[in-house]
Parts: sequence; C-alpha cells; structure tokens
Amino acid sequence: MEKLSDNTGFEDIRENYLGICENIAKSGREDVRLMAVTKTVSPERVNFAIGLGVSLLGENRVQEYLDKRESYAPAEVHFIGGLQTNKVKYIIDKVSMIHSVDNMRLAEEINRRAAQHGKVMDILAEINIGGEETKGGVSAESAGEFCAMAAELPNIRLRGLMTIPPAGCGESVFAEMQELFERLKVENAHNRENAMFDTLSMGMSGDYEAAIKYGATIVRIGSALFGRRKYL
Ligand SMILES: *Cc1c(COP(=O)(O)O)cnc(C)c1O
Repeated sequence: MEKLSDNTGFEDIRENYLGICENIAKSGREDVRLMAVTKTVSPERVNFAIGLGVSLLGENRVQEYLDKRESYAPAEVHFIGGLQTNKVKYIIDKVSMIHSVDNMRLAEEINRRAAQHGKVMDILAEINIGGEETKGGVSAESAGEFCAMAAELPNIRLRGLMTIPPAGCGESVFAEMQELFERLKVENAHNRENAMFDTLSMGMSGDYEAAIKYGATIVRIGSALFGRRKYL
C-alpha cells in the first residue's frame, strides 16, 4: 500500500479530474458516471477527489476497504473486485452495488446475506468478454442463462453487466458488450417484474472514451485520476 501520510500535492488529482470530466462531456452523453477506483490510494487523496465532485467509489479488496472506509468522506461505494463467497458478509451492508458477480454460489450468498439485512442488493453480472482463461466472469454464451437464474433470487436485483476486457483490445470488444447488454436487457425484462437493467460498467483509464462510445454507463477510473499506483 501507498504510505497514507502524504497530505501534500493533490493538485494532480484536480487536473486529472477536470480532464476526465471534459472527455466525458465531449461524448455528449449525460448518463455516464465516473467511478473513482481507490485501490492503494490513501483516504486523504480519495477525499480530495470527493471534494472535487466524485460521488462514486470503486473498491477492489475487502480488507483494504474495511481499513479505509471510516476515513472516507460521504460517497456511494460499489464493490468491483473479485469476491470470495465467505467475504460477502463483511461488505453486504457497506456497499450499494456489487459489480463482480460471476457464479451462482456467490449470487446465492449475496441474496442470503441481503435477506438477513432486510435489503435488496444491486448486482452486475461480470462478463468475460475476451474469453480469457485467467480472468473471472461468465462467458458471453452463458450470460443469458446466468442472468435468468440470478434474476430469480428475491434479495438481489440484477442491474446490468460489467466487464474487464483484455488489455489493448480493440473497440470491437466494446461493441460486442453493447450488443450483449441490449439483448439481455430485453430478456431480463421478462425475467422479473420491476426489472431494472440499466447499468453497463466498462472502461478504465486507458479506454474509457471508447467504452462510452459503446454505451458504458459507469467508467471505472483509477490511475488516470490518482496517478500510477504504488504497490509496496
Ligand atoms: C484497478 C481497476 C480499475 C481501474 O484501473 P485503471 O486502469 O487504473 O483505471 C477498474 N476496474 C477494476 C475492476 C479494477 O480492478
């Protein structure tokens, strides 16, 4: 983790933030939300970003989030990292959406824990659009079946799709995701009453402008906002 004591020199974040906002504005889309991805970033820097207008944080690691959350200024928080089933209980009442749901065992555990808290948890189905063996996510082929099964669980609400495409992939992967999203949106409307399939989480520091072109509604940005991550 980055040292948590560097309180000076946050102006880089302001500059980065304004640049990103400008790029998003250029797309002409008004339904795109900027998520600040906070892994390895000190709460002070995160809070500076919140002060600039960032209203949504993305958390990758359960323990890091639990360590930092008390220091955060008010913001909405989504979980975006790989999530082990036995860790769901630690975050179920501390985030408002989980982006990385890619198996029914995990979906069922989220459903069970949400029920215990008397809430309905918003989730996204993570899609392995590149078909990479080393990555999590449901394959594009089984996405429809997975979404239909997940939609049956009463204490989760499937809000859409998330993906982490292969590094350096072309725009065609985003186009594929958009097509899949639009198709599953229609299918999901039949799966459940009050369905709300409205969220496409894709695009990171290097490719968010392309992702926006193909319908992303949340772009998850870390290094382009906070600078290069320092892992100790
Ligand atoms: C780290 C991370 C990001 C942000 O990556 P950058 O390239 O730094 O913008 C987005 N999504 C997920 C799931 C991540 O783990």
